[in-house]
Amino acid sequence: MPTLEEEVVIVTGASRGLGKSMVERFSAEGARVVLTARDEERMEEIAADLPTESLVVPADARDSDAVERVVDRTIDEFGRIDTLVNNAGVSLLGMQDERNGLVDVTDDEWDTVLEVNLTGVFYFTREVLPQLYDQDQGNIINISSGLGRHAIAGAGAYVSSKWGLEGLTRTTALEAEEYGVNANALDPGGRVDTDIWAHLPEEEREQILDPDVMDDAAVLLAAQGPDGVTGESMEAEDWEERLG
Ligand code: NAP
Repeated sequence: MPTLEEEVVIVTGASRGLGKSMVERFSAEGARVVLTARDEERMEEIAADLPTESLVVPADARDSDAVERVVDRTIDEFGRIDTLVNNAGVSLLGMQDERNGLVDVTDDEWDTVLEVNLTGVFYFTREVLPQLYDQDQGNIINISSGLGRHAIAGAGAYVSSKWGLEGLTRTTALEAEEYGVNANALDPGGRVDTDIWAHLPEEEREQILDPDVMDDAAVLLAAQGPDGVTGESMEAEDWEERLG
């Protein structure tokens, strides 16, 4: 496994679940990590146990000014950015405890899912790219889902957000390639035992994937240099096979 010694990695949705796990793993590989999400207390607790330097910058991913502050503070503190992991995400499943047909989705629910899962990724990407372009290298890793390639009934907002994210990933890759910057999508390859599935009965939660499922693949993607694989979307296991 490559080292990320001294690299600077921003992880969104860092307060719990898959984001927390990736933060801990990046730090274990030597990276300096910037944690961002809304819950400052949880992020401070995570940061306190990390073996490397870190920075906690609370932000709502839907607020472009707050996102700008995250990126500005990162550059002030560390002087560079090597990788952005766009992981923050919500699903109506967690918000409502059950799947919801399109006819029942409210304006607020639709907007929340699209704004966090897609618009927030655009905000972070727009802020980070100029720095990566200046460096002539960097990686953007967008956390997608099987529902970015398939659809199911009862998850219209989530499915739409993740298909949108897949498109945004490809556009980012096309624009960034000439600057040596890679943009790819990564997903766990199934349901993961995080708060998204908090509504499932305990015995069902025990059968799904653990939150560290993407950590190896995320490290391999973050370690890519200029001319790395770009514009691709794969499950964690497939990335490990491709880059490992
Ligand atoms: P999770 O445990 O619910 O964590 C979601 C993270 O997103 C939290 O850190 C949360 O932090 C952050 N977040 C939510 N709303 C936000 C907002 N408005 N602004 C900033 N941050 C916000 O979920 P997870 O399962 O780890 O999900 C992480 C990613 O994996 C998501 O993109 C999800 O779609 C994807 N994914 C998950 C699964 C799965 O089965 N769990 C499967 C496929 C893909 P705060 O609440 O502190 O803001």
